[in-house]
Amino acid sequence: MPYPTQPTASHYINGQYVEDTAGTPIDVIYAATGEKIATLHSATPAIIEQAVAAAKAAQPAWAAMTGTERGRILRRAADILRERNHDLSVLETYDTGKPYQETSVVDATSGADALEYFGGMAATLTGEHIQLGEDWVYTRREALGVCVGIGAWNYPTQIACWKGAPALACGNSMVFKPSETTPLCALKVAEILHEAGLPAGLYNVIQGLGDVGAALVTDPRVDKVSLTGSVPTGRKVYAAAAAGIKHVTMELGGKSPMIVFEDADIENAVSGAILGNFYSSGQVCSNGTRVFVHTAIKDAFLTRLAERLKGAVIGDPMDPDTSFGPMVSARQMGIVQGYIEKGIAEGARLVCGGKQLDQDGFFLEPTVFADVKDDMTIAREEIFGPVMAVLDFEDEDDVMARANDTEFGLAAGVFTRDLSRAHRVAANFEAGTCYINTYNDAPVEAPFGGSKNSGVGRENSKAAIEHYSQLKSVYVRMGDLEAPF
Ligand code: NAD
Repeated sequence: MPYPTQPTASHYINGQYVEDTAGTPIDVIYAATGEKIATLHSATPAIIEQAVAAAKAAQPAWAAMTGTERGRILRRAADILRERNHDLSVLETYDTGKPYQETSVVDATSGADALEYFGGMAATLTGEHIQLGEDWVYTRREALGVCVGIGAWNYPTQIACWKGAPALACGNSMVFKPSETTPLCALKVAEILHEAGLPAGLYNVIQGLGDVGAALVTDPRVDKVSLTGSVPTGRKVYAAAAAGIKHVTMELGGKSPMIVFEDADIENAVSGAILGNFYSSGQVCSNGTRVFVHTAIKDAFLTRLAERLKGAVIGDPMDPDTSFGPMVSARQMGIVQGYIEKGIAEGARLVCGGKQLDQDGFFLEPTVFADVKDDMTIAREEIFGPVMAVLDFEDEDDVMARANDTEFGLAAGVFTRDLSRAHRVAANFEAGTCYINTYNDAPVEAPFGGSKNSGVGRENSKAAIEHYSQLKSVYVRMGDLEAPF
């Protein structure tokens, strides 16, 4: 199947595409048809060595450039991403199965936002001056060195840029390993960065499964690891990084609550529930998959939700009218179907959806369960698919405790017209990102990340700079130095 801007090899190292067919083949499957659209190869030890060595060699000269020079290259790359948005969006749709209606406004564009934002910030990074009487200390904000980025499959272009842009702005180099399920888009990010003037070796992409990721994490030349993935993978990567006392950013999974109070605007709350459960076919880490609805408006909410879901256009992701695409893979579809069966078996009420579509590809209907109880599997575990669990509540204190009763802490949302309650609830949520009368916005200007088991560190915003740089303190004595003997 032809698709635009096809990467010409499996890896991108030291400013060029590199192939090594000795690596295990990785088939790329188009989720809308089940067809194979490409075969790439997992990185062999020789490829891993090339990538890390290139990143190590290139980094000092990059860090020695001014922030203005580094930022100019990142901002040029942002412009190229935007100019090629159509082709990159089509590629993202082939890589993930997400509808073009989404990819054309979210993926390359949010990647470009990150490159533009951190490109602009590169020149502003400074240390500080601390006066101590006559003496003084100054701090230098320095790069960490070689950073490793490891991606999940739901936003391959965005994740490649969200990690690469702040890393490069701070003077680091990067070796990025995309998810084996969606290996194509990050290669285009590397190509565009170098076209924009990035010196060779500073942003390398190599393919592979967990073993390649693990080899990168344990390499002694690597100073920092940023993972986007599940909690179990996060535990392994965090532990491996800890052995080398490496810096980490962990963007992990969630089971986020969304609370809809009796005074909420029902139409907006339904919109929030749709955005927070069915965008990208539910494959979004911050999704509000536990929707607590006050019993006074439960029937009205469910009726309106069912009506609105009839408006979903499910089908060919390349058709700009399609608003709901397939699951990323047959495997992920099977996992989600297992959860739907568990929901039914444990006594939740299936309000709509639940079935696989009778056509090629990995299409599942948007699915809503009502009368869900806190201890049911579908209310406790991350499903990562289009399955919404609606739970009843009557009392604010009670629903707060239930909303926070989870190992995860990625996101949380509240719908209410009561101003004080909105801010009180947001303050009481145990989550890294909270939403009031909206859901799943992720602008580059705001910190994004999880608390509890959902992660460590923050991406985006000024906060990301703290996770891609370190401070050195330099003490300066102006007078003579006294010593005890
Ligand atoms: P995953 O954990 O299976 O894999 C993530 C990445 O880690 C892949 O590239 C994989 O090859 C790699 N990996 C696996 N084992 C490894 C190991 N031992 N060492 C190093 N790397 C290893 O996750 P997934 O199925 O690709 O993605 C879905 C998960 O990602 C969900 O849990 C979702 O919530 C999470 N996610 C989180 C965010 C966020 O920002 N918090 C964003 C998107 C997705």
